[in-house]
Amino acid sequence: MEKDIEKIISLCKRRGIVFPSSEIYGGFGSSYDFGPLGVELKRNIKNSWWKEMVQLHKDIVGLDAAILMSPKVWKASGHLSVGFADELVECKKCHKRFRLDEIANSKSQAPNSKQIPNSKFQIQNLRCPECGGKLLPPRKFNLMMKTFVGPVENESSVAYLRAETCQGIYVNFKNVMNAMRLKIPFGIAQIGKSFRNEITPKNFIFRTREFEQMEMQFFVAPPKSKLKIKNEKLKISVPASAGASAGRQSAKFKDPDEWFEYWKNERLNWYIKLGIKKENLRAREVPEEERAHYAKRQVDIEYKFPFGWKEIEGIHNRGDWDLSRHSQFSGQDLSYTDPETGEKFIPWIIETSVGVERSLLAFLVDAYEEVRGGRTTTTESTKEIEVVLKLHKSLAPIKVAVLPLVRNKEAIVKKAKEIFELLKPHFMCQYDEVGSIGRRYRRQDEVGTPFCVTIDFDTLKQNDVTVRDRDTMEQERVKIKDLPDYLKTKLQS
Ligand code: ATP
Repeated sequence: MEKDIEKIISLCKRRGIVFPSSEIYGGFGSSYDFGPLGVELKRNIKNSWWKEMVQLHKDIVGLDAAILMSPKVWKASGHLSVGFADELVECKKCHKRFRLDEIANSKSQAPNSKQIPNSKFQIQNLRCPECGGKLLPPRKFNLMMKTFVGPVENESSVAYLRAETCQGIYVNFKNVMNAMRLKIPFGIAQIGKSFRNEITPKNFIFRTREFEQMEMQFFVAPPKSKLKIKNEKLKISVPASAGASAGRQSAKFKDPDEWFEYWKNERLNWYIKLGIKKENLRAREVPEEERAHYAKRQVDIEYKFPFGWKEIEGIHNRGDWDLSRHSQFSGQDLSYTDPETGEKFIPWIIETSVGVERSLLAFLVDAYEEVRGGRTTTTESTKEIEVVLKLHKSLAPIKVAVLPLVRNKEAIVKKAKEIFELLKPHFMCQYDEVGSIGRRYRRQDEVGTPFCVTIDFDTLKQNDVTVRDRDTMEQERVKIKDLPDYLKTKLQS
């Protein structure tokens, strides 16, 4: 089945997953609001990431840093310089602006690369993708969003909305390490909003100006050859750590390159565990000329969207760039002294960075299935295209739908409401009594609800219900008293 992004956008709007922002005012460029089901899906993705990265790794801890930080942070990180800028070209005729790499690649033989034309000749050969007009020479366009802090709007009150969450982690490196008595290697994870004044936001929620990132920065020792600043005098004894160092899996690797491989595989596996099909995922080694200035190595985890292979997550070896720069600009010593060897060094960083909305879109696209003629054999459904969202159970916005077979029998409705109350504390549930039972099943399939519980006439006599499985459509009778445990087991399997 060819997946069509328009169908997914329409499903998102119709079923309360994603709405265009400020729609009653005609929308607001590239901003989106997450509806009742979208917010659940987003939370489930974030919870799954947090569990995977923080809860299950005992040498990774969490952080929630402020969005507004000292502007000095962004000077040190290089975000205020031309480094954090896209090359922008303007059409002489229609005056529309485009990212140079995007229009170049729309013409190139290798549409998935991010090759930027560099010679005057290559640029002159490009034309406006909208009207075919000539393009003006490219200009750098900084992506940082500016604001003012306090009552006076002048240069001294300028602040920036963070463009990535990781800077909050770097400036807290020593605070976190000391407070948690951590030893390298260890990681700090954070989920939060980031802002970029993207020139060409597009592809629905794939590229927006406001988005959420889930980033983990893993601090490791530099490669052995780089360990030069030995300082025996600084040898310190390690306080008995509150479990952080006991049996750490992180003792496994010595070298940043090995850590890089480890995290690349861990992150790829996370998508596969959450149901993304292997054939729709790939890891692309990013060549040096395309990498950010700080990256010694970069692998993009890419997903095969209906609009092509695109990055959903970046794995970067950032070397000692970040902590060196912040040491230099803040005047604070951000080096680390190995308590066992006495070696003093600026830690290297292996970063994993994924956008919540981008991964959400990948999960949606991957889970979306259409069944022509429907999955049941009733005449009603054979006329239709049935949509099933085969989301992983842990991501599904609603886990259990509670459906009385009919709504005009008081005893059945009463029982169904009791069952809804019974299940509500355990799972995100939805009660639905509107329309035929077949239609209600399909409404739940369309938003990926793994289980539907139906209350019928037999329920009143036997105290049991029918549980229907979204994927197999099999139905099983389960005693009401066993229902919470039965569903818990099924949802965890
Ligand atoms: P791109 O090349 O697509 O602009 P990037 O290389 O600038 O992405 P990073 O700075 O490495 O992206 O950010 C890490 C992750 O954050 C990306 O893989 C993506 O999932 C997410 N992300 C970055 N920019 C945006 C955006 N404008 N909208 C939504 N998600 C984004």
